[in-house]
Amino acid sequence: MKAAVLITSSPIAHDTTVSLRQRPARGVSDSGRGSGKLSESRPRRQVATSLVVMAAAAAAAATCVLGCPSPASAQTPVSISATDGYFDVSRIDADTWAISEPKYWQKNNSFIIKGQVRTILFDAGSGTRDIKHMSDNVTRKPTTVIPSHVHYDHIGSIGSFDEIAMVDLPINREHTVDNRYTPSLAMSLSPLASSFMVTEWWKPGEKIDIGGRVLEAVSIPGHSPDSIALVDRARGYAFVGDFLYAGELYTFLPGADLAAYLESTKRLLGDYPEIRTVLCGHMGTTMPREALVALQQTLTSILEQRAAPERVWWLGGLVKRYPGQSFSILTW
Ligand SMILES: [Zn+2]
Repeated sequence: MKAAVLITSSPIAHDTTVSLRQRPARGVSDSGRGSGKLSESRPRRQVATSLVVMAAAAAAAATCVLGCPSPASAQTPVSISATDGYFDVSRIDADTWAISEPKYWQKNNSFIIKGQVRTILFDAGSGTRDIKHMSDNVTRKPTTVIPSHVHYDHIGSIGSFDEIAMVDLPINREHTVDNRYTPSLAMSLSPLASSFMVTEWWKPGEKIDIGGRVLEAVSIPGHSPDSIALVDRARGYAFVGDFLYAGELYTFLPGADLAAYLESTKRLLGDYPEIRTVLCGHMGTTMPREALVALQQTLTSILEQRAAPERVWWLGGLVKRYPGQSFSILTW
């Protein structure tokens, strides 16, 4: 694709140059995404099935032959500041940016979180295109990438970064030797996921000062055992990856756990009353705190067997679908 033209008036150019095509602000309608998890107690057959399903999904992704995500009921208007034709960059606030992949079947969002000293990139994109040039366009400060979890679509370009942080969880240490993290197939869902060097370990709950801005790393198992959130109490933000977005929340993949999902939701709501905005790994970039409350209600009703699911086909397998408020939960 032809390179985009230099735009110097872009609002993302305040601490760097920008070689992106500026686009007028517009509303972006986003939507549901399917995926899932498997409880660890499920038979291996189901784990194997889900891996086959994920492989089929990956193979089909480029052309959406198995179906592209359907529009979500809740749509988040996003002001697009710039694009290179694949990635869209949108401003959340003066120091926070979403780098989105609207053409990718799962419509990923990664986030630039800028401090006065350094920048954090939360998730490394699907890898369809290298996200590094986009993050470099937003900031020239030293950038450390930290994945929300290591599913293949969140570590796609992680190898392009020199500084990589992970939260010091047992599940992460299990896959690390001499600070080299090697994702297993069950963790990454892709045989193509590469290993990478971890340059920084953050303790769960640790406050990370990036210069006038403090982030807290929170373990939030549920979608996957290694899922984390970054909470910025001062701004009321919780960056949550696949934990919550306006689409289908996959709770049938290996290591997923509905009970842990509920406990993590309660932890976010109870320990972080400052959270006002949830920043999502897929579909629309943000959801309000109320969506977390709705997630807690839906998970509770499922676990208490008060919710009535519908059976739906998901890439060749029958799963249960529990509708929530602007999201749904897919599980076995
Ligand atoms: Zn995931």
